[in-house]
Amino acid sequence: NLSQRLGAVVKNLRGQGRLTESNIQDALREVRVALLEADVALPVVRDFIARVKERALGQDVLSSLTPGQMLIGIVQKELAALMGEQAAPLSFAAQPPVVYLMAGLQGAGKTTSSGKLVRMIRAQGKKKVLLVSCDVYRPAAIEQLKTVAAQAEADFFPSSPDQKPLDIALAALDYARRHFFDVLIVDTAGRLHVDEAMMQEIRELHAALKPVETLFVVDAMQGQDAVNTAKAFGDALPLTGIILTKLDGDARGGAALSVRQITGKPIKFVGVGEKLSGIEVFHPERMASRILGMGDVLSLIEEAQKGVDQAEAIKVAKKLKTGKGFDLDDFKSQIQQMQKMGGLGGLIDKLPGMGQLKAGDLAQGEKQMRRIEGIINSMTPKERQQPEIIKASRKRRIAAGAGVQVQDVNRLLTQFEQMQKMMKTFSKGGMAKMMRGMKG
Ligand code: GDP
Ligand code: MG
Repeated sequence: NLSQRLGAVVKNLRGQGRLTESNIQDALREVRVALLEADVALPVVRDFIARVKERALGQDVLSSLTPGQMLIGIVQKELAALMGEQAAPLSFAAQPPVVYLMAGLQGAGKTTSSGKLVRMIRAQGKKKVLLVSCDVYRPAAIEQLKTVAAQAEADFFPSSPDQKPLDIALAALDYARRHFFDVLIVDTAGRLHVDEAMMQEIRELHAALKPVETLFVVDAMQGQDAVNTAKAFGDALPLTGIILTKLDGDARGGAALSVRQITGKPIKFVGVGEKLSGIEVFHPERMASRILGMGDVLSLIEEAQKGVDQAEAIKVAKKLKTGKGFDLDDFKSQIQQMQKMGGLGGLIDKLPGMGQLKAGDLAQGEKQMRRIEGIINSMTPKERQQPEIIKASRKRRIAAGAGVQVQDVNRLLTQFEQMQKMMKTFSKGGMAKMMRGMKG
């Protein structure tokens, strides 16, 4: 893991005030190796290192950091930036039915991802989705999509191996129009390798269907090969986004950087399992940390030291430990501290073995944290200290003040009660220990 390997390099460099060619040389070499080990393509690595170097040279080293640590910070930021902003959600910006075209090699995960997308589409609202397979080369492929559609509870437009892909696609589009579907997902055939016939076929499908999303599905485990595939598909089709599958395998995510760099298109989703639930929205920072292998407690503590008001942390830790006197103000300050550390996602990424948590759950959690903060802000100090006095009329006032429903206030109070209960468990170790750890 990169941060471990850097440890040795970094030690010799303590106490230097500036990043220079010589004091980052060893560290940069380690970064290079880490990226290559993570399967980032060589030309991408070269460009990247040059860019980081340019960025880093001459920068003052913060007093609390070594040049190596400082450099890692720059590397991580640059990596995230290279992988782009968080991608836009799936587009519905066309006359329905909007068409999503799936493109990629055989085995990349197009059929599986077609089913997974149904879930992502439904997360954006109530939609009627139709699935169709244009994979006429393997009869089992059509059956497979049928099964996937049933699992995803989406409609399936039947096709057969003796039809032409374009005819199937047009018939499905016509059907989707007449039956008022919102979305038509067109699964296509892949080949084992890029070949001209396949590219021709998918170009024709693209021209006829005018999809709002042309999604390039690519297997993260393909590593370096992903680059060539991405280039071929990117040249043949105006891609709108990428789905990077099988990230649950041992791939270290380097393909994410390469594919993004080569196509210039955003990674929208990552596949993290064979089941239809195995899909997540792509987060550049998390992927950057993953590529660098930075999921360690050390960096958690580092950030904690940066962002957390230590006196406050100790105070809360004490209350957590005893479970006594923990009120809504403490609850709020805990939430704020979590946000300082980069939100739930940032925190969880830094705990070993927890990087695989569902992105959707996290986004939801973070939204929830902000809402909770808003509600607590609308309470009087007395209410925060003695939540039990919050009855119906106070709830209405608080809800109005925070711009939420009374039931949201109720939910918060219930959560707070649960938290108090949970603290009894935490006080035996867990959370309290963690908060003590943050003292540094
Ligand atoms: P297609 O040929 O592009 O349609 O690929 P499939 O959807 O048939 O997927 C090929 C294989 O990869 C199947 O066994 C899938 O279960 C598996 N697969 C697809 N996506 C993922 C993923 O994100 N994680 C894992 N572990 N397996 C996946
Ligand atoms: Mg398939």
